[in-house]
Amino acid sequence: MTYKDKKLYRLLTIIFSFVIILTACTPKSTEPVIVEQDDFVLGTVGKIRVYAENDKAGNAAIEKAYARIVAIENTMSTAIEGSDVYHINKNAGEAAVEVKDDTLSVIKKAIDYKELTNDVFNIAIGRLIELWGIGKDWQKVPTEEEILDAKNHVDITQVEIKGNNVMLRDPDMLIDLGGIAKGYAVDEAARVLRENGITSAFVNMGGDVYALGSKPDGTPWNVGIQDPEVGSSGIIAKVGLSDESIVTSGDYERYFIENGVRYHHIIDPETGAPTRNELVSVTILSKKSVDGDVLSTAVFIMGLEEGIRFIEGMEGIEAVLVTKDKKMYATSGAMDRVEILDPEYQLQK
Ligand code: ADP
Ligand code: MG
Repeated sequence: MTYKDKKLYRLLTIIFSFVIILTACTPKSTEPVIVEQDDFVLGTVGKIRVYAENDKAGNAAIEKAYARIVAIENTMSTAIEGSDVYHINKNAGEAAVEVKDDTLSVIKKAIDYKELTNDVFNIAIGRLIELWGIGKDWQKVPTEEEILDAKNHVDITQVEIKGNNVMLRDPDMLIDLGGIAKGYAVDEAARVLRENGITSAFVNMGGDVYALGSKPDGTPWNVGIQDPEVGSSGIIAKVGLSDESIVTSGDYERYFIENGVRYHHIIDPETGAPTRNELVSVTILSKKSVDGDVLSTAVFIMGLEEGIRFIEGMEGIEAVLVTKDKKMYATSGAMDRVEILDPEYQLQK
């Protein structure tokens, strides 16, 4: 062998050994499997779908995510005896209640959101929610007097926080985390899935959705915007998402009808009654579901014009609003992302 040949020979040997090492190190490529579980949580049928190495790993991750959701529900529900919120309300005007870090951070976030949303989002309106009782056995249209009375007890500055101790100074006040806790639970479920090795998943808790990663083929998750027509389970549009949340609030889910008027579960603190404007649904795109949950409710109360203006002014948040006359309005960053599927609905340019 000449010197040149030797050099070439050595080089080839090195290359071959690399190829062998690389082949040996590459794991057997297994196709991920889809694992899915539905469960009744947070007053709704939850759905979690993951792509996992195998069924066992997928189911284990999903079960941990549901356990986290149930733990949050058990601390933040007004209705569950023994929850932090239950204790806070029960001790209104009397004593401070030591709450979990979770509850504390959600309450603090909610309080911040009151100012940010020009007072439309207010967790201190528990009395009004209780009074209308939407979805409860006692739901009815209250008298004007009852509404005025409840409105005297919604001052959020009466929520006193010292460390982990929360106290409602007003004995007639109640707090309600129904407009924020579900989003927080969805974010936490996604975090738990990630922690358990899941890189691609879809979490849907009755309209509060998180798309984790993208699908294994690299395409985004397609998420539908529900038809706001009462009784319809169809989808009017879709949006592609990865590592993003989409949350919808509407007047078509929980309501009752009296004298031809539909009374739903989103209360305008100013009137003390369910919001009445041109909107039927508000969908928020955001990095976190907790923000989407609050903002979908808040924008629903603000109405079309103020709602669009408000979201345009927020960094990293986009919105799609649907009106009673079947028009869709999107913020500038959402406009090109929405694909209409139902020709009855029209995206306003
Ligand atoms: P859903 O829970 O059906 O997804 P939303 O996310 O729109 O609906 O939240 C509605 C819930 O938020 C109500 O059931 C009530 O608990 C609470 N809520 C209603 N009005 C307000 C408000 N103005 N500010 C804060 N929370 C509200
Ligand atoms: Mg909401």
